Amino acid sequence: MVGFGYDSHRFEEGKPLMIGGIKITDEFGCVSHSDGDTFIHALCDALLGAAGLGDIGEKFPDTDHIYEDYDSTLFLIEIVELIESHGFSIVNIDSTIVLEKPKLIEFKEQIRREISELCRIPMARVNVKAKTNEGMGFVGRLEGIAVYCICELKEKQ
Ligand code: MG
Repeated sequence: MVGFGYDSHRFEEGKPLMIGGIKITDEFGCVSHSDGDTFIHALCDALLGAAGLGDIGEKFPDTDHIYEDYDSTLFLIEIVELIESHGFSIVNIDSTIVLEKPKLIEFKEQIRREISELCRIPMARVNVKAKTNEGMGFVGRLEGIAVYCICELKEKQ
């Protein structure tokens, strides 16, 4: 089963930028009810999509005060447990982060490691790609970030 996820968030100053559970900078982060980890939100939707289990907004409503400034890695842990309880395991994850700056070259391996640990799969099964939007659109204007994520699940034997 294949699942796809997308997320985007607007930036604001004075909040850490979290991507895949890794703090990228303290200068600006994402406007969000939770910690705004756009990567993890897109990944959660990909996993839920592959399992036919809806989306992250249904599971963790932003009207629920318990999720204010919530650590998104906890969303991911819960969703991995959920899909496993439905008889699925993760084959691989691929992702594209669209961000004008800062450059993510030095962070990509850290993100892969963190996601592989949270999803309990080898690092080789987690791919992270990063690109700018060539100055175009909301990403190009440094207004926000977008992440696309795809995953494959298999039914456990
Ligand atoms: Mg989000």
